[in-house]
Amino acid sequence: MNNKNNLNKKNEKFPEIKLDWSLVQSEMKIKLGKDIYESWLKKLNFVEEFSGYVLLSVPSRFIRDWITSRYLDQILQILKIHKKEISRIEFKIIEKKQEENSFNSFENNQVLQNKNVSFIKDSYLQYNRIDPNKNFENFVVGSSNKIALEASKKVSENISHYNPLYVYAGVGMGKTHLLNAIGLNLKNKNKVMFISAERFMYQFVKSIKSNDMVKFKEYFRGTDVLIIDDIQFMNGKEAMQEEFFHTFNALLDKGSQIIISADRPPNKLTRIQERIKSRFSGGLVIDIQKPDYDLRNKIVKAKCDELNTFYSNQITISEDIKNFISFEVKTSIRELVGSINRIFSFARIYNKVPNITETKVILKDLLSLKENKVSIDFIQSSVCKFFKISKNEMLSSRRSRYLVRPRQTAIYLTKILTSKSLPEIGREFSNRDHTTIIHSVKTIEKLRKSDEELNNNIDFLKNQILYHKENEI
Ligand code: ADP
Ligand code: MG
Repeated sequence: MNNKNNLNKKNEKFPEIKLDWSLVQSEMKIKLGKDIYESWLKKLNFVEEFSGYVLLSVPSRFIRDWITSRYLDQILQILKIHKKEISRIEFKIIEKKQEENSFNSFENNQVLQNKNVSFIKDSYLQYNRIDPNKNFENFVVGSSNKIALEASKKVSENISHYNPLYVYAGVGMGKTHLLNAIGLNLKNKNKVMFISAERFMYQFVKSIKSNDMVKFKEYFRGTDVLIIDDIQFMNGKEAMQEEFFHTFNALLDKGSQIIISADRPPNKLTRIQERIKSRFSGGLVIDIQKPDYDLRNKIVKAKCDELNTFYSNQITISEDIKNFISFEVKTSIRELVGSINRIFSFARIYNKVPNITETKVILKDLLSLKENKVSIDFIQSSVCKFFKISKNEMLSSRRSRYLVRPRQTAIYLTKILTSKSLPEIGREFSNRDHTTIIHSVKTIEKLRKSDEELNNNIDFLKNQILYHKENEI
């Protein structure tokens, strides 16, 4: 996309070959591995190509330096395969906010992509490849995805229980993971077809061109389980929708299971015929919501454990860092997983686990850091309200038992929910010494392990503070 170059005017020596960035991305994914791609390289965007150099945008200085020092040669090699005149890569730092406006508009992308069918090429990666690493066992469950997981399991046990099953959620929320897990479970006993809607369109167009429509129909109509990922990208011509509709009905009639994912509910799909939408709505429609703090924290922990099982030298990420990431990276599970990959890459290369400051730099483009997003004042009043004490009592120097715990709780919550330093926290609690602050934090940390009621109270307060409207971005 974004081939904004003017090469044909400026350089007539070479016949115009446009660089297909999506193809370059697919190759980077294959050659450098999916983890590295997802954690670092995916952030690169093509900006311009001119006189043998390619200009790429990157979201932060740190990522630019990281990529330059580690992957630049390989990226250049890949670029040269596509266009041998390319001899240099330049970077331009475009921070997240700006980038969102210029690249991420979904509708714009769709229009762009429609004109240029080459984007389909990269979806061959997904073509009926069921990934054994995305299964039900490593799908971490929380309140936002529980129903989706249960329905998916049900379908895996008993075909056509819910038919079709339609799962929708924003990007990076686990749709493909779930669909893949269903396919994985069913593929031993059934003929499973797992395909992205882009690929479906591509196959369709190809079969028309090569006069293979009959084969195409047979192929799809012969499946027991048809799983179509990202149906929002299916926006093809009437003829294709017609074919899809018939395939869909034929499959339902013979009792095959159909599972569909999308980024929005059926009635919000654009460019898809009404009758198809209404058939989508006829089964079970469920969504996956954004993960809450608890789910994010569980995923961070699970992912750290998982990464440690792959390597012999264990990396121990501190609870503080884990909590920090769980707290700060909230846009999607994909970004959360990407963050952990980055921390591990850093730790392996520098042979040291990053501290909080380094973590902030490493994850800068993923964090929504706003200082004082959670105000100390708000924490204090929430805790006071919960324990039914007054703020004066909490801030006083009195040591009555009924005041000490709430005070320590408020101090502890301030430490984990804000990025304030110990002396700063001390100041907010009537100029207490930073050693008092440490003592409070440690006491509560310890008690959380042994005192279930206290632990539950803290979780409750934490959620209340985090998800209070004022603290939403
Ligand atoms: P989507 O298809 O909704 O864009 P994906 O299924 O590709 O999202 O998920 C993005 C990443 O997050 C993948 O690496 C996936 O394995 C991981 N992921 C998503 N949800 C979960 C979950 N509940 N537990 C563990 N990993 C998850
Ligand atoms: Mg997906």
